[in-house]
Amino acid sequence: MTRDLVDTFGRTHRDLRISVTDRCNFRCTYCMPEEGLEWLNRDDLLSFEEITRLARIMVDTFGVDSIRLTGGEPLVRANIAELVSMLAQLDTDLTMTTNGATLRRHAAPLKQAGLKRINISLDSLKRDRFEELTRRDELDAVLDGIEAAVEAGLDPVKINAVVMRGVNDDELVDFATFGRERGVAIRFIEWMPLDADEGWSNDRVVSQQEIVSIIGAVYPLEPIQRGHEPAQRFRYLDGAGDVGVIASVTQAFCGNCDRVRLTAEGQFRNCLFAVDEFDLRTLLRSGADDGSIAAEIERGVGAKWAGHQIGKVHFIRPHRSMSQIGG
Ligand code: SAM
Ligand code: SF4
Repeated sequence: MTRDLVDTFGRTHRDLRISVTDRCNFRCTYCMPEEGLEWLNRDDLLSFEEITRLARIMVDTFGVDSIRLTGGEPLVRANIAELVSMLAQLDTDLTMTTNGATLRRHAAPLKQAGLKRINISLDSLKRDRFEELTRRDELDAVLDGIEAAVEAGLDPVKINAVVMRGVNDDELVDFATFGRERGVAIRFIEWMPLDADEGWSNDRVVSQQEIVSIIGAVYPLEPIQRGHEPAQRFRYLDGAGDVGVIASVTQAFCGNCDRVRLTAEGQFRNCLFAVDEFDLRTLLRSGADDGSIAAEIERGVGAKWAGHQIGKVHFIRPHRSMSQIGG
């Protein structure tokens, strides 16, 4: 018998995002400083057994039904397929967000281990621009990784593209064409102020409305009734699939948010933009029983605020960059 993990605003939480490492083989300008960040020591990271125990508590106690592995870059954590097979026993919608650079060799083992679907981040289809944005010349590897994911039978394969004015907003239609031709779903993400270099500003966010009108002028679109997911989806009128926008800034979905997060070192976060964290690793390592850990998780969710305040004067930037939270 499970009980709902509800906050003071009545939102029930069933989606767990687990960062498995803070390390990354890329240095995306909107996510990490060029010189990288100070990495956690190995001992600071939760072990696969610790991650699985926390996930099991969340599933068994609170009915969590969706788990997403993220990073840093999840594929740089050694033996990641082993963790996937451990978590697959929990029978949730198990997925991953990756930069895709090493997916060619990981896709089939991940699928075999029980990964169901995958999101791959890709912000430019132009080689020079891709290199500028990620500080790595790996576009071909990522494109090959996308193909490998489709071949492995991960379904759906979705592409996440962060849209930044004056950087890649001239590629919206190219992305739509790419998705339509390859049968992969494109999710455009509004740029959020979690870049380590603090280059974000409100006027550089390209809104959902703008994105949809630019693509719709070439490939006519109609909105799809929205469910719980953060993306507002639009169907191509010619039947060639759909495209989505995650309008985290201009149309925040905080009112429907059902996500909680676990950092690579076992800190529980009730929001992407949370300022406070709840230390589950210390509890785990001091021999706490499942009930005490579940109680701390409930305390964490109880402290969740109504929504973020991006672009408002009272917005407080979290002390972590996106790469340390996981997206
Ligand atoms: N390394 C993996 C990847 O790039 O997919 C997983 C971690 S990454 C932090 C997760 C997602 O967050 C990616 O899709 C990335 O594009 C997105 N992201 C990073 N910084 C962002 C920002 N400032 N605003 C919006 N999305 C961001
Ligand atoms: Fe790494 Fe992903 Fe951040 Fe890029 S977005 S630096 S790939 S964690």
